[in-house]
Amino acid sequence: MTWDLLITGGEHDGKQADLAIHNGRIAAIGPDLPRDARHITDVTGRLVTPGLIDLHTHVGPGYWSIDPDPIAWYSGVTTWVDAGSAGAYTLAGLRRVSTEATVRVPALLNISAVGLAGRTGECRDLANCDVALAIDTIAANRDLIHGIKVRIDTETVGANGIEPLRRGLAAADACGVPVMVHIGTVPPALDEVLDLLRPGDIVTHCASGIAAPLGPAVRAASERGVLLDLGHGSGGFAFDILEAQLDAGLRPYTISTDLHARSLHGPVFDLPTTMAKLLAVGVPLPEVIAAATTHPAAALGLPGGKLTVGTPADVAIFDVRVEDFPVTDAHRQVRVSPIRLINQATYVGGRLLTPRLPGPPAPWIPLTDAQREALARRERHIRDLLATPLIGVDGLAEQFPRTEPRSS
Ligand SMILES: [Zn+2]
Repeated sequence: MTWDLLITGGEHDGKQADLAIHNGRIAAIGPDLPRDARHITDVTGRLVTPGLIDLHTHVGPGYWSIDPDPIAWYSGVTTWVDAGSAGAYTLAGLRRVSTEATVRVPALLNISAVGLAGRTGECRDLANCDVALAIDTIAANRDLIHGIKVRIDTETVGANGIEPLRRGLAAADACGVPVMVHIGTVPPALDEVLDLLRPGDIVTHCASGIAAPLGPAVRAASERGVLLDLGHGSGGFAFDILEAQLDAGLRPYTISTDLHARSLHGPVFDLPTTMAKLLAVGVPLPEVIAAATTHPAAALGLPGGKLTVGTPADVAIFDVRVEDFPVTDAHRQVRVSPIRLINQATYVGGRLLTPRLPGPPAPWIPLTDAQREALARRERHIRDLLATPLIGVDGLAEQFPRTEPRSS
């Protein structure tokens, strides 16, 4: 038996482990595997994790959309859950994205049939929040849809209060899937939202700073099995709220970026940078990794999130640099992570992702001069990479130096 690829010397779950990949799947994992493969890549001293799963992104068509492949190759994220960009009327567009992307794109269906075509307001017209339509859409798209997304904040719901959430829960009950609820500006009152949620439902932007879930309702929700998701985004994460939650014994179950057209160029950048923000407030590295692999997989019943024989070979390789890494939340608060995770290589189904140029930002997305300059620098850097001789898996660690734009 000659494997397609053998990744040797990496560290996985605190132990040295080689990883053999064949026909897109993990064929063997353990120390000192036989050197019997068509390609052997030595990653000694580096961290090997399952491909990261980002539980909250926006890759479906609409106002917030970004293209995942040009970000995945340098961030280790192999599964991009689209969190409600599409509703029933716009799901066909998201299905196209999911089919064409190299990475995996499961979806949460927006309870509003128009989805996130625009910036906000999708639940102001209750005619768009049609429970029967959502149920029929999920039933016809079980391969793609793994839950329902509802955004509850003043601008999104208008005068409709928590009725869109009630409808989302009704559809979710009928289909046996979880609801992810976005919290933000009140009203509707946060406690009213939290009290409705069932075990397995997900609160995203859980340490938002716009809404500040710190009272008895969030504790009660957490105790009955409601899951807290970070959902960083452009406004959805505040260090002081997260620190207060950690002090109170509340911890995000999943670390997600809410990566979209307005958070990609700062303050979020990517999932490894978001993970460093949890390291910066004292969450240990193994727990941070679980919150971006096994936990999001469990939350939606997704495959992946672990490296076991027979599963698709979604794998990420990281340099774990022990150095001070200043990180900023969505409200300009800064903390310092003791560790920086630098993704060195990312495999989806055993295929190495290679550098990809992102498309230009949409004309409605405001960017600062510093962001534009950082984008131009990154584009030059990727063009240089693409101009170098074809990258083979053997020399990948050396071939993939990169500088990320770090201006805010
Ligand atoms: Zn979002």
